[in-house]
Amino acid sequence: MLPVSEAEAIISNLVHPLNSEQDTEIVDLLTADGRILAKPAISQLDFPHWDNSAMDGYAVRYEDVQQANAEKSAVLQIIEEIPAGYQPQATIQKGQAARIFTGAVMPNGADTIVIQENTNRENNQVSILVTPKPQEFVRKRASFYQAGSELLPQGIKLNAPEIAVLAAAQCNQFSVYRKARVAILSTGDELAKVNEPLQPGQIVDSNQYALATLVRQAGAEALMLGIVKDEPEILKQTITQALSNADIVISSGGVSVGEYDYVEKILDSLGGKIHIRAVKMKPGKPLTVASFPPTPHSPLPTPHSKLYFGLPGNPVSALVTFWRFVLPAIKKLSGIKSGWEPTFIKAKTSYELRSDGKRESFVWGKLSVVDSVHQFDLAGGTQASGNLINLAQTNALAVLPVGTTLITQGNEVEVLKVD
Ligand code: AMP
Ligand code: MG
Repeated sequence: MLPVSEAEAIISNLVHPLNSEQDTEIVDLLTADGRILAKPAISQLDFPHWDNSAMDGYAVRYEDVQQANAEKSAVLQIIEEIPAGYQPQATIQKGQAARIFTGAVMPNGADTIVIQENTNRENNQVSILVTPKPQEFVRKRASFYQAGSELLPQGIKLNAPEIAVLAAAQCNQFSVYRKARVAILSTGDELAKVNEPLQPGQIVDSNQYALATLVRQAGAEALMLGIVKDEPEILKQTITQALSNADIVISSGGVSVGEYDYVEKILDSLGGKIHIRAVKMKPGKPLTVASFPPTPHSPLPTPHSKLYFGLPGNPVSALVTFWRFVLPAIKKLSGIKSGWEPTFIKAKTSYELRSDGKRESFVWGKLSVVDSVHQFDLAGGTQASGNLINLAQTNALAVLPVGTTLITQGNEVEVLKVD
């Protein structure tokens, strides 16, 4: 049985990010949400595009107003009014000023803005009552960004701030990594579909839906392959098909030590290299991880090795192993440069937490901020890997390391964020 940290390191080394040349597609501003930039974004526009005013006021020559004060104001002739979006026509000469508004283009000759509050206007004359700083409130062209340099780096996720930057830079189309393809299958003779009447002994295949949701939330495409019976030949065919169509394959069930747990043997018979057979964790011990060489005639743009995660069937075990190991793998594969690693934070537990201390234990519950302190509330009801009912509202897993049997109420616990 591998310690959790060793399993994590093995998996991380097995994941190779998508290829920034071949594994890409072009999206536009309306379809870029959550995608990962595959090439640096470069704009042909300076930011700001023009020297412009940061305030409502008067555009002046600093040398005309450098002695101004309330007792001895500098009186300037207003020769033009410049609203935002207007191209100034005149050049400001000695003793002249232009009325100007926020965002409007600076007129030639002027180098400084005097804010409206520090002036007194009468007809076409303005008195400057306070000396500004030289070049005050002028946003110089290209002072935020120079055309032709890198605007956004490769490998970042495109959320609203990045999309605003791209829109302002008139980059309407850009290259992002294609979505990672993740095939999902559920194994077990006892499984029924959500819309089938249950026969005695059957349970509903909930893992398929939970895992597909998590895969999509990770920014990947979920290929739902449905329920596969515990029959080696059918399993073999389905896994072969999954490996050829997807970057990552996830199955749930069939990885324990029971008579009907065929997954590991099949992975072996299909030429997979098995890296992980069991992890010292609870729940999630039977996690199986294998890699496969590139499949010939794969529909994927670049041939690359495939990763197989055989998750335990118990609904909680499947989710815990997904959150801990599969999610970072999908994110790393997607091309994102940083932030794919799991996020752990310290929180105060509001209930006592127990473990047998033999394996790293993950208990589920809700993380919130109370009086500026992170607080972990253990989910009520039974903490058993087969009970998914009290998983609802889970957004964090508290982690009890090997050797820790008790963390008492009010003490600090390390928590894995899962939302
Ligand atoms: P297994 O890992 O195949 O031994 O399954 C362990 C437990 O998880 C059994 O009680 C299964 O009925 C349950 N289980 C397996 N697959 C699923 C699934 N897809 N959805 C919900 N529960 C499952
Ligand atoms: Mg099974």
